Amino acid sequence: MIIDLRSDTVTKPTKGMLDAMMSAEVGDDVYKEDSSVNLLEKRLAEMFGMDEALFFPTGSMANQAALKLHTNPGEQVICDKYAHIYNYEGGGASFNSGISCKLIDGHRGMFTSAQAEEAINPPDFYHSPLTSLIEVENTTNKGGGACWDFEELKKIRQVADKHKLGYHLDGARLWNAMVFKKENPKQYGELFDTISVCLSKGLGCPVGSVLLGKKELMKGALRVRKILGGGMRQVGYLAAAGIYALDHHIERLSEDHKKAREIGEVLSQLPFIKKVEPIETNIIIFELNNNISETDFLNRLKEKNIHIIGMGSNKLRMVTHLDYTDNMHEELLKTLKKI
Ligand SMILES: *Cc1c(COP(=O)(O)O)cnc(C)c1O
Repeated sequence: MIIDLRSDTVTKPTKGMLDAMMSAEVGDDVYKEDSSVNLLEKRLAEMFGMDEALFFPTGSMANQAALKLHTNPGEQVICDKYAHIYNYEGGGASFNSGISCKLIDGHRGMFTSAQAEEAINPPDFYHSPLTSLIEVENTTNKGGGACWDFEELKKIRQVADKHKLGYHLDGARLWNAMVFKKENPKQYGELFDTISVCLSKGLGCPVGSVLLGKKELMKGALRVRKILGGGMRQVGYLAAAGIYALDHHIERLSEDHKKAREIGEVLSQLPFIKKVEPIETNIIIFELNNNISETDFLNRLKEKNIHIIGMGSNKLRMVTHLDYTDNMHEELLKTLKKI
């Protein structure tokens, strides 16, 4: 038995999901003729109360398209120093959109509306890049699955309105946040200009993300996706997995969250662990004591068929997911207590 907690992207489609994929109706989605993709997009747009939705192969591409739709070359996006768009999209913001990131020194990947406002360059001061977008991430990845306070997100909306800036949400794990905070998609649809959501993380699909947005902004989305190389043909097989996941895999995320908290409790009692960061959703980030080598620890776990990842500076990460079974959970807790 291999216990793989490196990421919630390691899941494989369930039998039910595979059946849904195999019986999907498909067509050429570049001509918008794939009925399964059309259905998925329509469902998500309705779910969030957003005008438009567009299927993407990856979350990175959906975010990159959003950056492009909101900005012109030379401009600047405000985001946290932990932001996925800054750290983990290969420098795409500069490569694809010719923009820079103004980083906020936030807390666990989140910041306040006052910090956002302070980060705006005065539009008349032509020496600085023109600020055009505020970007937030919920849950935060590098921030350990932390969830935003919705009231703060609303205050940031007011800042964006006051300064006429776009407002994008990287909602790769928004499903986890909504389940944990008992929030609903419409609240988010009302607040943001664009939202990207992943189907291939907690929801357990093999591939796929969706960008949601207001009509005016989304007018150029098809073209941008084409330019980025994301125009796909009979991709309804993947959209069918997404539809299946929306029906079957959202509520169960609370099980992943419960397991993550239980792992956190065991970790926090181990003598060689300095700190376990607060756990809200399915990500566990913890720090080893200085005298323990990260590589040694990772190798010890690997010998016991447990795979997790290092995040640098003696911090390690585990992520619970759909394929992490009750059996594996029992085995992991037992092994950790003995290690
Ligand atoms: C995973 C993730 C993405 C998208 O990643 P892809 O691997 O390109 O699908 C975007 N934002 C966050 C916060 C993520 O965790």
